Amino acid sequence: VEQSALQNEKLAMLGKISASIAHEIRNPLTSIRGFIQLIRPYLYDIGKEDYARIILSEIDRANDIIHEFLNSSKPSAPMKENASINSLLHDAIVLIDGQALMQNCELIFNQLVTDLFVSIDVKQMKQVVLNILRNALEAVQMTDEFHRSKVTVEVNSNGNFAEITIQDNGKGMDKATMSKLFEPFYTTKSTGTGLGLSVSERIIRNHGGSIRVNSIENCGTVFVISLPLLT
Ligand code: ADP
Ligand code: MG
Repeated sequence: VEQSALQNEKLAMLGKISASIAHEIRNPLTSIRGFIQLIRPYLYDIGKEDYARIILSEIDRANDIIHEFLNSSKPSAPMKENASINSLLHDAIVLIDGQALMQNCELIFNQLVTDLFVSIDVKQMKQVVLNILRNALEAVQMTDEFHRSKVTVEVNSNGNFAEITIQDNGKGMDKATMSKLFEPFYTTKSTGTGLGLSVSERIIRNHGGSIRVNSIENCGTVFVISLPLLT
């Protein structure tokens, strides 16, 4: 209880700082993006179209990071509506399908025959599922090229809860990482923010749900999100 109070405090402080900075950084990024688009044909003419592509994707990455920081500053009260688990997962998976394909990773969604319904902030919860899927894709990427990488999304009902299982056969993690991964800023990646899971954990907690993880090094990881079913 004390630890999660401290984490909330850390996130609230982060929120105040990031909200004020993000706006100032976003505006110049947007105009840079616009001007690069404008000069793109000229770069193409001199055979440097690749440069434009790299610049644009780096700008998008910077925007993603700002977006993630801003998310952590959002007021914690979710705007709940009744939503289908199948469509929540479908909508999240569509957004990351292209990345999986590009990585040659098999992304399997075992959709429910009988859909389950939950009361959630759809935007926030989609972000949660995306954060975990993104981590899964990053984890399978770091294994060797002969490895057939695979991410599976599954749903089950367990008592009064819907359980979303996201499993990957990626690099897994050791016990030390497993005990820290929900802490804000904890990351083992050179370009990571360490915010994805701490923000996700807080969102799930605000929905009366929980998240648990199991992992075996060099074998894979499974996250289970538990959300109260609509009654
Ligand atoms: P980031 O992705 O920016 O590092 P996260 O909060 O999303 O931050 O994750 C924190 C850390 O948890 C990651 O750096 C990684 O070490 C570990 N992790 C999360 N998901 C997985 C996974 N599916 N497989 C292996 N490690 C993971
Ligand atoms: Mg992440």
